[in-house]
Amino acid sequence: MDYKAIARRFRPKTFSEVTGQEAVVTTLRNAVLQKKASHAYLFTGIRGTGKTTLARIFAKALNCENLTSLGEPCNACPSCLEIMEGNSLDFIEIDGASNRGIDDIRNINETLGYRAIKGRFKIYLIDEVHMLTKEAFNALLKSLEEPPLNVKFFFATTEPLKVLPTIVSRCQRFDLTRISNFEIIKKLRSIAKEIKVEIEDEALATIARLSEGSLRDAESLFDQISCSTSDLITAPYILETVGFAQRSDFFALDEAFLKNDLTFAFTFAAKLFSSGKDITYFLENLLEHYRNLMLIQLKHLQLDDAFFSKEEKEGYLAGSTIYETAHLMHILDYLSDLIHQSSRPTYKKVHLEMILLHILQTKKRVVLESLVEKLSNLEKKTEIVYPIKEEIKPSLKEEIVLPLVKDESVKEDESVKEVVLEKKAPPSVRHDTVLRFAQVEFSGTLKKN
Ligand SMILES: [Zn+2]
Repeated sequence: MDYKAIARRFRPKTFSEVTGQEAVVTTLRNAVLQKKASHAYLFTGIRGTGKTTLARIFAKALNCENLTSLGEPCNACPSCLEIMEGNSLDFIEIDGASNRGIDDIRNINETLGYRAIKGRFKIYLIDEVHMLTKEAFNALLKSLEEPPLNVKFFFATTEPLKVLPTIVSRCQRFDLTRISNFEIIKKLRSIAKEIKVEIEDEALATIARLSEGSLRDAESLFDQISCSTSDLITAPYILETVGFAQRSDFFALDEAFLKNDLTFAFTFAAKLFSSGKDITYFLENLLEHYRNLMLIQLKHLQLDDAFFSKEEKEGYLAGSTIYETAHLMHILDYLSDLIHQSSRPTYKKVHLEMILLHILQTKKRVVLESLVEKLSNLEKKTEIVYPIKEEIKPSLKEEIVLPLVKDESVKEDESVKEVVLEKKAPPSVRHDTVLRFAQVEFSGTLKKN
């Protein structure tokens, strides 16, 4: 038997087999059942979310001779078979990337007048429609404005913003969503069962995570991995094979942050670098790690058994208590800037060391928000004790023995003083108190770290 890629072999043939996209599927199915299909459809979404698959099923259903009562194509009549085999004269698939010129569209326009041969409709599917030239779009527009009754246009694109608005406005538009990890895992699990590949749940979750909502990417990755071994497939094996860092590496970084262990930056960079792993991928994964920690702190992430092993759950929960929210914000900002700026540059080991050091050094940053909060609280207290200011002065004096720490971040407290001090009088006492407090707080924070 010929080897057939998993993505092709397990491509859905009916609406009910489509993974995710329930709303779109329902609308298309109703259009078929009620015989109320528009003359143009635009399917948008990231790669591998089912745009052309849905368009094909829809085309089959519209032209099927034995449509089921649920609006599903029969997949057995001549029309269905021809569409599935890719040799239908009524369903014409055009790759917009390689047929993007005005002449290509003119060719289409010339055939519009001919009747459908087997089915009721003549259907054109233009994939990657955003690639068409402006002239081609304009030629297409003419046909869209006055299409013959039996003609339907289906467009698919990953970049809807590049499609002329006049085209978009003439289409019924469907924005396909990323497929959830849960759905991807479910699908991969059934494929694994079917092709008799042994794979751990955690490994399925890893593939889903790496595919970021693209089912096709997930299937390709699963394909690649299942071909590379006949043993049980585990998460570490996948990460090792495709060159990604493991979550345990990130938990080790959290621990280094907690312990102020700056040497971690150097030992880890050396390890990662010698493993030959893709540094940009590593950084993207690192960003995801911090994003997860942030979401856990905000109580916005459920550590679902389907996606996280017991160790990972423990690691994340521990990690989320190590960082202050402001630290996480800073690290996330820093990493996303870093990834955003660079379109996959070649990182040297020293770059990686500096990145890790920067993250570890974040701990030394004084968190402005908590300082403001403490100052405000103090202000409330001083309001009460204000009438007996002469008596509290001596006690405060004792606290001044701490040296004023020179640090860049201390500058930030100027604004804090402004905010906290306004409108309360008399300023002299308040000013002194707040200043002393800031002094104590800063030295405390810096000392502690
Ligand atoms: Zn059929």
